[in-house]
Amino acid sequence: MDWLSYARDLDKADPIAEFRSRFVVSDSDLVYLDGNSLGRMPVAASAKMRSLEAEWGDRLVRGWNEGWMDLSRRLGDKIGRLIGAREGEVLVADSTSVNLYKLAWAALNEGGRARGPILTDDLNFPSDHYVFQGLGQVRVLATDGIHPPEPEIPPHVGLASFSAVAFKSGALYPVEAFTSAAHDAGCRILWDLSHAVGAVELHLADWSVDLAVGCTYKFLNGGPGSPAFLYVRQDLQDALAQPIQGWFGRENAFDFGLEYRPAQGIGRFASGTPPIVSLALIEPGVDLLIEAGLDRLTVKSRAMGEFLARLFDERLESLGFRLNSPRSPEARGSHVAFGHEHAWQMCQALIDTAGVVPDFRAPDTIRFACVPLYGTFEELFLGVERLATIAETGTFRAFPTKAEGTVT
Ligand SMILES: *Cc1c(COP(=O)(O)O)cnc(C)c1O
Repeated sequence: MDWLSYARDLDKADPIAEFRSRFVVSDSDLVYLDGNSLGRMPVAASAKMRSLEAEWGDRLVRGWNEGWMDLSRRLGDKIGRLIGAREGEVLVADSTSVNLYKLAWAALNEGGRARGPILTDDLNFPSDHYVFQGLGQVRVLATDGIHPPEPEIPPHVGLASFSAVAFKSGALYPVEAFTSAAHDAGCRILWDLSHAVGAVELHLADWSVDLAVGCTYKFLNGGPGSPAFLYVRQDLQDALAQPIQGWFGRENAFDFGLEYRPAQGIGRFASGTPPIVSLALIEPGVDLLIEAGLDRLTVKSRAMGEFLARLFDERLESLGFRLNSPRSPEARGSHVAFGHEHAWQMCQALIDTAGVVPDFRAPDTIRFACVPLYGTFEELFLGVERLATIAETGTFRAFPTKAEGTVT
């Protein structure tokens, strides 16, 4: 089978192929497979940067009354369309970790009564674990390192919290089943959507999800360090308090009254001044996702994942690689993990000698992102082929084995 021709045929038949031209691709030979860590830059983000220059340069402080003040909520509503939220349920603010702290605290202290412990699992993102450890007692469900645990929540849990797509294995959780299980067990559930938003279809309102957070620089292409979002179901908003009570979450912030009174609605989950420059740059990427449509993106994402799984069978398995992701495309988000004992060295060899940028996750995983908005099947083929060649020829052995202090 000629896999390269097959990949090119799939690209030719791709109904959303034109969206690649809406992104900055300065080096067309670079095989970029790390869009789940930092998404590519939309071309429209450059124009947005120029308009920000005018907004800041000319309008100065008047800009707050000319759109900056509402930006966190307006963009929140746009992101809300990608996760099946209602208007007024999403706010863009802070980092994912800070939002997670705010919402976990809110759930643990609902009605002024302290609850615990927090239930999570060992597939969840380390930063989530750290935040929970700072909030109190944590119970961690053990998994096989790839698949989610059963969607069962034991009694006497204060809050359940998981990632909807596991950052390492790419496993997609049955969000609705976990959410009902949490409600049956009498606790709230808080989802981290960082690796799910823009990659899989989500229906938070229909599924009665209580709380969620997520980041915007991965599949949403918001730019390095762009602020995160939080979601609070409408009927819970006025019943929950949050721990970082700042002026942007106060009713009538510009009264400058010395007494904190939470704003009504999602606004009460804001704390301080939003970073307008990086906030504004989120919009072009979100607009592209809305234009392409999550239904079409999901179809292509699954086809890309399936293509990678077939290439794994064909080229990688016999070279000592393991599939560190669920096998079925329906059980995955939008990236695929390959395990190998020399994964770190191979990843460095891919980046330094083969023009392929995936990423490495300790201890043994190389992640390949399937980004339907700008990724191609040909790139996936080239990524696997070059990885196989590096493994076959042993050129990775020239690279050091240490992973300290580097990002990918
Ligand atoms: C990327 C990611 C984050 C990022 O957290 P920040 O606080 O925004 O740096 C959090 N959780 C998960 C699951 C992630 O994948």
